This record gives sequence, C-alpha cells and structure tokens, in this order.
Amino acid sequence: MNLQKWFKEYKSNLSCTYCDANHPAVLDFHHKDPNKKEFNIYDLVKNSSSKKLIIELEKCEPICSNCHRKLHAKKGIFNAIQRSYSEKEIS
Ligand SMILES: [Zn+2]
Ligand SMILES: [Zn+2]
Repeated sequence: MNLQKWFKEYKSNLSCTYCDANHPAVLDFHHKDPNKKEFNIYDLVKNSSSKKLIIELEKCEPICSNCHRKLHAKKGIFNAIQRSYSEKEIS
C-alpha cells in the first residue's frame, strides 16, 4: 500500500481532539510540543518517508482546521504564561 493511501485511511479513523469534526479533509496534525517538530506531516507523506512519518505522528494530535487556527491564535498567550495548555482553555 502506498503511503498516501495509508495516510488517507489512517485519517479516516481519527477525529478532532477538541470537537466532533472527523472529516479527513478538515483534519490537521498539531505538534503538541513545537520544539520537537522536525518535519511537516504532509511533506513526509508526499516524500513517502513512512518511518519518519510514524515518528512525527506520535508527536502530534489530530485537530480540525477550525480548532487548529483557534489553538494557534491563542498560543501566543499560552506561551507567555506556560508552555502547555489544557483542553478547557480552548473551548
Ligand atoms: Zn475541531
Ligand atoms: Zn499546530
């Protein structure tokens, strides 16, 4: 199975960590710790780097593009106070 196919299937079993969105087209992958980000998930899929992809996916949580944008919009504030965030703060 090629990686793009695998990734499509993998995504179809996921849903957003913060809401009920589960359509593969809206799902992003957010790096829980930006310091540990080495690669962009979609670049790895494009380059068929399956081993790197698995490692990188473990650092991420599935999130829909709406929640992802909100999360990043708030992140500046969170970074100033503390590096981590709780799910409650994002609602
Ligand atoms: Zn969401
Ligand atoms: Zn993100």
